[in-house]
Amino acid sequence: MPQRQRQVSVNFLGKKRRSVGVATGNNAAWRCRCGRSLWLIGHTLSCSPGGPNTPAGRVECPHCRRHYFVVPRATAGNGAKRAIRVEEIPPLN
Ligand SMILES: [Zn+2]
Repeated sequence: MPQRQRQVSVNFLGKKRRSVGVATGNNAAWRCRCGRSLWLIGHTLSCSPGGPNTPAGRVECPHCRRHYFVVPRATAGNGAKRAIRVEEIPPLN
């Protein structure tokens, strides 16, 4: 079966700004709000256990340095975690 392409919401910080990205399995791709022409791509696998609190759980736009987190669906057990949403998050201090 072909890898299913799903639309996921991308939530930017402040003013409830949103966009749409695409996901397949645990991977997601989206456009940064800075207007960088290439898409950002990230996955949920390196998120455990620290999630967005660890550098490996984040995606940084190489153009504007904004940070994003690919949100996994909360599931019991192990294995790949499906990407359900992308959130812009504040940089780590
Ligand atoms: Zn950017």
